[in-house]
Amino acid sequence: MTRPAFGGNLMATIICKEHRPQMSTVRQGVMLKGQPDASRKGTVEEVKIAFDSSKFKVKILKTVKEPKNLVDITEAKILISGGRGVGTAENFKKLEELAHVLGAEISSSRAMVDAGIMPHERQVGQTGKTVRPDVYFALGISGAIQHLAGMEESDYIIAVNKDKFAPIFQSADLSIVGDVNEIVPLLTEKLQQHK
Ligand SMILES: Cc1cc2nc3c(=O)[nH]c(=O)nc-3n(C[C@H](O)[C@H](O)[C@H](O)COP(=O)(O)OP(=O)(O)OC[C@H]3O[C@@H](n4cnc5c(N)ncnc54)[C@H](O)[C@@H]3O)c2cc1C
Repeated sequence: MTRPAFGGNLMATIICKEHRPQMSTVRQGVMLKGQPDASRKGTVEEVKIAFDSSKFKVKILKTVKEPKNLVDITEAKILISGGRGVGTAENFKKLEELAHVLGAEISSSRAMVDAGIMPHERQVGQTGKTVRPDVYFALGISGAIQHLAGMEESDYIIAVNKDKFAPIFQSADLSIVGDVNEIVPLLTEKLQQHK
């Protein structure tokens, strides 16, 4: 099993050779979805347990449902993800124009969520969502381990960074060294012409 350790700065591989049973939890999106097999049948068994509520140390006072998210970046085939290199909400509009041409969704690194520019539901990474789209654009994203944990299984990764030594390039299939805020409008224009 792989799990974050030391405040998420390391990914530790845990091997439990001896102790049984073992239990681990898996975040949504980490595994590929299996194909439904109609030949398999199962039954749901309801087990009634007589709890003694006087022994409960925690009481549920109120249940508040979070409003259903309008976007689900885990379902997107193409994700355009912006990081601190994109910088401002104004610059994110350029990413939206590119997303519009490609039929993609916008996501981001935690840096942009912490800056209040993007909502948490669009954050990719260890404390955000795990995604594996067909194409993942990492724009102005350095490639911190916590970000990679959420996107490195993407089929094809295109990274744009002005620093040719940025770690994201080690995970990218296509690396472009340059200013993201210049490259994105050019890419949008070219794709529009192509359409
Ligand atoms: C416990 C823990 C959990 C975390 N969880 C997450 C998580 O879920 N998701 C996540 O993303 N992070 C997470 N982080 C934070 C993570 O460590 C990084 O700080 C974060 O991913 C950095 O975001 P960034 O790449 O956008 O910014 P930076 O690391 O600052 O990188 C910005 C990049 O943009 C480039 N750049 C700057 N200007 C331009 C330009 N004009 N054109 C092109 N490139 C440019 C720079 O060269 C740099 O590589 C977590 C951290 C911890 C400790």
